[in-house]
Amino acid sequence: MNIQGLTIAYKQKVAIDDVTLQIATGKLTGIVGPNGAGKSTLLKGMMGLVPREKGQVTLDNKPLSYWRKKIAYVPQRSEVDLTFPITVFDMVLLGTYPALGLIKRPGKKEKQLAFDALEQVEMTAFSKRQIGELSGGQLQRVFIARALAQHAEIFFLDEPFAGIDMTSEALIMKLLKKLRD
Ligand code: ADP
Ligand code: MG
Repeated sequence: MNIQGLTIAYKQKVAIDDVTLQIATGKLTGIVGPNGAGKSTLLKGMMGLVPREKGQVTLDNKPLSYWRKKIAYVPQRSEVDLTFPITVFDMVLLGTYPALGLIKRPGKKEKQLAFDALEQVEMTAFSKRQIGELSGGQLQRVFIARALAQHAEIFFLDEPFAGIDMTSEALIMKLLKKLRD
C-alpha cells in the first residue's frame, strides 16, 4: 500500500502533515505513537473517512476506494456507539452485507458465514447478547468476527488491544497471524 503526501486537517488545524510511507501486503504492521499523535486520523484518512487536504493512497495502483469491499475497519472502542441496539450475531452478519449489494437480504449462506466467524473467535455462546453488554475483549472479538464474515483482505484495526483481557488478545493475535499467513 502506497501512501503519498497524505495531509489531513480538522477545521484548518493540521492533524497529519504530508505523510508518505509504504505498507507491505501480507504483513502485520503497527503504527505507534502517543495520544493525539494522529494514528486514528491516519487510518481514517487512508480509507477516505475524513476529507483529505491532499495526498493519495493506492494499492496495486488503484485508489483504496476501489478495494472498499475488501477492507475491514474496526474503529477505536470510544468511537463505537455501544447503546445501539444490535445483537452480537446481527453485528457479525453485517460483515456479509458489502458482498450482498443493495437489495438482497442475508440468507442461509450469510448466516452460516456469520456463525462460522463467531465460532472462530469463540463467541457463539454470546450470539444473542446485545453488543453493549460485552467486555472490551469480547467486543473486539465480535468486530474481528465481522471482518472474517466479510472475507476482508485488508484489516484496519484501531487500538485493537487497548483495555482487553489476555485471552482475547492472544486469540485475536493468533487469528491475525493465521490470516496473514
Ligand atoms: P491518535 O489516534 O493518535 O490518538 P487522533 O488521530 O485521534 O490521534 O488525533 C490527532 C489530532 O487531531 C489530535 O490533536 C486530535 O485532537 C485532533 N482530532 C481528532 N479528531 C478530531 C475531530 N473530529 N475534530 C477536530 N480535531 C480532531
Ligand atoms: Mg486514536
